[in-house]
Amino acid sequence: MAKPIVAFVGRPNVGKSTLFNRLAGKRISIVQDTPGVTRDRVYAEAEWLNYNFTMIDTGGIEPENNDIIVKQMRRQAQIAIETADVIVFIVDGKEGMTAADSEVAQMLRKSKKPVVLVVNKIDNLKDESNCFEFYNLGIGDPITISASQGLGLGDMLDEVVKHFKDLPNEDEDDEYIRIAMIGKPNVGKSSLINKLLGEERVIVSNVPGTTRDSIDSYLETEQGKFILIDTAGIRRKSKVKEEIERYSVIRTYAAVEKADVCILMVDATEGVTEQDEKIIGYAHEMNKAIMVIVNKWDLIEKDDKTMINFKKDMQQKLNFLSYAPYLFISALTGQRVHKVLDMAKACYDNYNKRVATGVLNDVISKAVLMKEPPTVALKRLKIYYVTQVAVKPPKFVLFVNDSSAVHFSYQRYLENQLRNSFDFEGTGLEIEYREKK
Ligand code: GDP
Ligand code: GDP
Repeated sequence: MAKPIVAFVGRPNVGKSTLFNRLAGKRISIVQDTPGVTRDRVYAEAEWLNYNFTMIDTGGIEPENNDIIVKQMRRQAQIAIETADVIVFIVDGKEGMTAADSEVAQMLRKSKKPVVLVVNKIDNLKDESNCFEFYNLGIGDPITISASQGLGLGDMLDEVVKHFKDLPNEDEDDEYIRIAMIGKPNVGKSSLINKLLGEERVIVSNVPGTTRDSIDSYLETEQGKFILIDTAGIRRKSKVKEEIERYSVIRTYAAVEKADVCILMVDATEGVTEQDEKIIGYAHEMNKAIMVIVNKWDLIEKDDKTMINFKKDMQQKLNFLSYAPYLFISALTGQRVHKVLDMAKACYDNYNKRVATGVLNDVISKAVLMKEPPTVALKRLKIYYVTQVAVKPPKFVLFVNDSSAVHFSYQRYLENQLRNSFDFEGTGLEIEYREKK
């Protein structure tokens, strides 16, 4: 199930980053082979009382004057409303209430999203009374904390996770395969979605930043039932480049989090860009099923080698995605568009695949017979038993004599053996080595 998303909103300097970093703890995973993903801390994973959730920090750059602050806060609040399940609204208990606070409070109230009002910088008990004026914001009881001293954070998190219970349970309509179409602006996401839907539901335009409403589309075909998650959302115009980027990261992140299958769309006329690598990096880090679509194939002059070479080049750039299948289409002419959902369904089926324990153990024993594990620091790996413990993605546990004897090349060998024996195209695999004494 998708993790709930908690967004932090508040004026510059109220302590958002301090709080974010404190809560992020050690669970920020830095996956070495994924480029660029975890360097900017737009989001982080957090945990409280057995709840796992994703935090996003909507605050970006520091504006110099008050006019800009109010404008930026409106955008922050908007993105939080669009993407988050619970919003933590942070105000400054030392500075007191400001006009920008009231304005944001009004937006949040209208949105009907669950909001937790947090008064930060209450470092001493004697400052507690500073919180009273914030009742005027009309969004309930303020919770006082000190992010820098680590006070009141438990009470705050209790309030946050309380709201998770009220979230719609997505497992109820689990028959749907959720697809996030991700890629740069103008790569052709809406054009493809329109073609798939067979109607002009989404407004297509080649002006980047066109305003449109955020809607997920439901689709039923012979391949199954699908939800195409809207990744465009309402695009607010902003002149600040960092801000646009931050918000597009947050939006993409939120869509990927909800998805089963992520379709990375790449523009054939541009090839894979750094931004593409970064976007698909989220999906890879979050263990989603992944496929790559090269769109605008109609614009490319081709001979019989063009597609193969194009694919090779992309696989090299996206080398952490060796499991992803590729499809070359034109959303404009409709070329191969009919294969998109077939492929998405196949990726999903592999992502959700269960392998029987007997066959699994046969495959691994045979693999070990064909190639003995190497010795690592005088120890040799012994594998006693294998079992699949989860799907989405498939996760296997190998019970072994000594997990320090697992050599990375042998790990890759075993994964390849699994991939050769069962079709896992389109999905990452998790393999855990557990010691059995
Ligand atoms: P952001 O702009 O909202 O992300 O705010 P920061 O987290 O960067 O914090 C702004 C300033 O407030 C920094 O100097 C922090 O050290 C300070 N600060 C953050 N939390 C607290 C707090 O609980 N008490 C006090 N006294 N200062 C804090
Ligand atoms: P989005 O921003 O990713 O949703 O991209 P759009 O669907 O709005 O498409 C951006 C522009 O590219 C529009 O002018 C489309 O008509 C055009 N476009 C989309 N797909 C194709 C394609 O396969 N071939 C060509 N030649 N143009 C395309």
